[in-house]
Amino acid sequence: MEYILETKALEKKYNKFKAIDNLNMHIPKGAIYGLIGKNGAGKTTLIRLICGLQKPTSGIFMMYGVSNTDKKMKEERKRIGAIVETPSIRIDATAEDNLKEQYKILGLPSEENLKEILKQVGLSNTGKKKAKDFSLGMKQRLGIAIALVGEPDFLILDEPINGLDPEGIIEIRELILKLNKEKGITFLISSHYLDELSKVATHYGFLNHGKIIQEISKQELEQNCRKRIEVKVNNLKECIQYLEENSISYEIKDNEKINIYDTVNISEFAVALSKRNCIIEEFTEKEESLENYYINLIGGESNV
Ligand code: ATP
Repeated sequence: MEYILETKALEKKYNKFKAIDNLNMHIPKGAIYGLIGKNGAGKTTLIRLICGLQKPTSGIFMMYGVSNTDKKMKEERKRIGAIVETPSIRIDATAEDNLKEQYKILGLPSEENLKEILKQVGLSNTGKKKAKDFSLGMKQRLGIAIALVGEPDFLILDEPINGLDPEGIIEIRELILKLNKEKGITFLISSHYLDELSKVATHYGFLNHGKIIQEISKQELEQNCRKRIEVKVNNLKECIQYLEENSISYEIKDNEKINIYDTVNISEFAVALSKRNCIIEEFTEKEESLENYYINLIGGESNV
């Protein structure tokens, strides 16, 4: 798998406190990677390290295969765009002037894709309106437009939907999906809004107390949260044989439990199994929300 970003035992200490602790993360090329963690989990600190705004205490990270300790990293960073905490926009300037400023900062002589960027983020018609009169959603989209000036192939967005109204949230979501699909931009998006993130993310990293406690793909997460019946039986072999013969979708959980994903009539199922000398000892219907999945993962701490 080709990774845009990989971290190895990354650590950031503030005095004795480890804000980032032995952190290992893998962002595949083309992914929309949702970094999920409650307040104080370390999301912003991690993003600041990746963007070079702070230095790790120990450990390394590789961007496009180049280590942060390598001099070439300065060049590689030009391939990323980022909005950390709040978008850095000039509120007394128009959208167009904000972008022009960014071309100057990056030392890019031509502004040929300026109009295209404004169109992409839906700010083509803002004319002389100054950024201070924009809605929060428009300001966020302007921030993304500024980040797009250098034509990055990796965009890092720290809590991009914080404070946005439902319409603003939809606009940002659609913009992320469009840039990922049409421009092939890889995203790292931090959030504590799991449900919202689940509408865009292809991969997740669950962050808790400065550590990535699980990395999981969208498919794996959906599988884990899928509606299912968990049965505990005294004769796993016979149970499997019955499920196979009747083309019932299942997964073996351990040496006495099976997850069944199709709808089954439980009394018929129990009778059929008992004829095979197999007794159902436990039967539980399960369906997990994304929110619950995370809370279970971090051991019941809420405040996501
Ligand atoms: P939030 O969702 O609230 O923004 P976060 O996941 O982004 O939280 P961070 O801002 O990265 O979390 O903070 C992680 C931990 O590191 C917190 O406990 C925070 O208090 C601590 N921390 C962050 N910056 C500093 C600093 N400059 N000095 C000391 N401690 C810090």
